[in-house]
Amino acid sequence: AARRHGRVHPGAEVTENADIVIAVDNVSRRFGDVLALSGVHLSVARGMVYGLLGPNGSGKSTLIRILCGLLAPSEGKASVLGLDVVEQGEAIRQQIGYMSQKFSLYEDLTVVENLDFYAEIYNIPKAKRRLRRDSAIELTHIGPYVNRLAGNLSGGWKQRLALGAALMHEPRVVFLDEPTAGIDPVARRELWDLLFQLAAEGITLLVTTHYMDEAERCGEVGYIYLSKLLVSGTPDHLKSLPSVNPPDARRLEIETHGTARALSWLSREPFCKGATIFGQAVHALIERNVTDAELADRLAKAGFSGAYLREIAPSLEDVFVTLTEQAAAARRTGAA
Ligand code: ADP
Ligand code: MG
Repeated sequence: AARRHGRVHPGAEVTENADIVIAVDNVSRRFGDVLALSGVHLSVARGMVYGLLGPNGSGKSTLIRILCGLLAPSEGKASVLGLDVVEQGEAIRQQIGYMSQKFSLYEDLTVVENLDFYAEIYNIPKAKRRLRRDSAIELTHIGPYVNRLAGNLSGGWKQRLALGAALMHEPRVVFLDEPTAGIDPVARRELWDLLFQLAAEGITLLVTTHYMDEAERCGEVGYIYLSKLLVSGTPDHLKSLPSVNPPDARRLEIETHGTARALSWLSREPFCKGATIFGQAVHALIERNVTDAELADRLAKAGFSGAYLREIAPSLEDVFVTLTEQAAAARRTGAA
């Protein structure tokens, strides 16, 4: 194969790999004057649980709808399972599951009726329907509720049923748009256990979420802000990014009484480059030339004596907050 000259885009060679299930190459999408996605590159390997994060309106659902072949990119190319999203959308839809952000079940049908309905939509042969329905029920453990109206299920069970329905045709890729929004922590964990079970079977999952604990569980995560995919990689890779770990600062956990007051004091000090409350402590980015002893001394003088200091690694939340601030600052200087 011919080798290209100069700078090779890191994703360029990967997209030719058969194990890359989702490939997005410089995709943009406009709605009139609104730029919903801008120059997005992404590749997701088989069996990966890929988490997509970003504020509301940043373009997450638009990307999913493009990958499901429901919406064409304005620019760029994307493929799922080697199929082009524009040319082969129908073939893609036969091999993927899609749990949309909006509730996709029929509230006045029972659990079983919903599953049967989806089996019909997906054109599953009659002889196979019973088997597929039973395996969806087994996977989601929804057996005790099969005759309940979907509208009368709790939020967590509704999402399990929606996932079961999206799996009726044995898709190899599943797109889940905020599947855990508004469900309780136990139901969230159970849904994630289900997702990992699917990934272990070689199913590729792309999930959007606002929850940091869910992001931490993903094999790789991407962060979209104002239509641009700012970063993509393993959680550890993102936490080690130089822009998140400025060489002239240390990230410290400061355990003290009166965390809220300590936060507002620290935020006004020039040696503090950023701070937030985390549990019972303040997490702060402190200029490197300020030693622990000096900081403890200044804290004591400000009324926070006996503070306990500990150097910590950034969390994914730190990563996303930092990248958001940097992107917003770049926009301001760009616009000026
Ligand atoms: P997210 O899922 O991250 O909240 P969306 O992809 O839904 O973001 O939306 C990205 C942007 O595109 C938003 O500004 C939204 O208003 C706009 N948008 C999405 N779909 C449409 C549409 N069908 N028509 C017009 N604007 C849209
Ligand atoms: Mg959305």
